[in-house]
This record gives sequence, C-alpha cells and structure tokens, in this order.
Amino acid sequence: MTFAKLGLAEPLVRALEAKGYSTPTPIQQQSIPMLLEGRDLLGIAQTGTGKTAAFVLPSIQNLIANDKRILPTHCRMLVLAPTRELASQIADSARDYGKFSKMSVATVFGGVSINKNRQDMSRGVDILVATPGRLLDLIEQRFVSLATLEILVLDEADQMLDLGFIHALKKIVRMLPKQRQTLFFSATMPAAIRDLADQFLTDPATVKV
Ligand code: AMP
Repeated sequence: MTFAKLGLAEPLVRALEAKGYSTPTPIQQQSIPMLLEGRDLLGIAQTGTGKTAAFVLPSIQNLIANDKRILPTHCRMLVLAPTRELASQIADSARDYGKFSKMSVATVFGGVSINKNRQDMSRGVDILVATPGRLLDLIEQRFVSLATLEILVLDEADQMLDLGFIHALKKIVRMLPKQRQTLFFSATMPAAIRDLADQFLTDPATVKV
C-alpha cells in the first residue's frame, strides 16, 4: 500500500517522502480514505500508531480542496490536545506535512503570553492546535473565533477528561458550526468518553488499532 493509493495528493506524498515514510501504518490505511470523503471518525488508538499523520494529512487535503479565505482571528481546523507537549508535537507535524501545501499553523497553550497567542492568531490560520483552557480564554477575549471552523479534531480525549477539561470541551464544541467534520481520538473508551463521542460526532466511521 502507498499514500498515493489512499488518495493523497502530490504535495503531501512529497512531504512524506522527505520524511522517509513510504508505507502507511494500519490506522493511516483505514482512516485516510474515509476522512478524504468527509466522514466523521472515532479512532481508538494509542500514541505511536501514526495517528497524527492519519488525521493531519487528509485534513490538509480537504482544506485545500475547499479553498476558503481565512478571516482575521479565525481558523479553518482546530486540534484540541490535553497538554502543551502534545499540542506542540502535533503543530510540528502539521507544519512538516503541510510544508508543500502552504498551510499556516499556530499553537495556543498556557505558559506562553496571551499577547504572543493574540499576535499569532491576528491574521487567522489554517490550522490551530490548542489546549482547551487557554483557547477558551482567547475566545472570551475575542482574540480567536471558531465561527468559520471546518474541521475539529479531539486528540487523546480520555486524557482531556482525566485532566478536567470536560466543561471546557463542551463549551468549545457548542460554539462551532454544526456543519463540520469531527475526528475524535482516544486510547480508551470508557462510558464517559463514548457519551462525549456520541454528542460530538455525526454517523462516524470507527477505526480501532
Ligand atoms: P504518532 O502515533 O502520531 O505519535 O506517530 C508516531 C511516530 O511514527 C511519529 O514519530 C511519526 O512521525 C511516525 N510515523 C507516522 N507515520 C509513519 C509512517 N507511515 N511510517 C513511518 N513512521 C511514521
């Protein structure tokens, strides 16, 4: 199997080749074609399975296919992650995979000055990677708007629940356009996570690795 056969376009395949990745991992094989069709996804997967590329690559392609203008303070895709470390890793991957696709990427998380976050978001970005608490602060101060969001990704949802982000998550999701693509990843699926997935996702495909 190759990334091109999964339906990925040349600029993405080129970015993968530059990293030396020629064979998609199982979660990439199963997720990428469905995500390119615009389906919602429930992914039950641990870190180390290649899940970041599984959601970043088809999302970049979908953003390019839609070709919308970015408004100041807006983002087209939001990735929510439980920790700064994970958020910055995801942002690095998005920059790397999107380097031949002219994707703009910003991160927003605690520990960095709000002013820096505000500056990074002032013109708007294609992809925003954030932790839930700091993102809510920025939304409340009108430095970030989610009104034109097209793709939402929740990564490590079980960790976000364990860290007490449930109310922040629900509040953020209530602000999003109903018409969107939603991807939900968790290593475990206890009842509370399944309930959350049911609330956020519409007719999702399920992938378990
Ligand atoms: P993740 O599960 O997203 O944290 O990815 C785990 C590691 O696998 C990261 O270092 C990725 O860069 C790497 N990776 C992702 N996809 C592939 C692939 N198809 N082939 C080889 N390595 C990969």
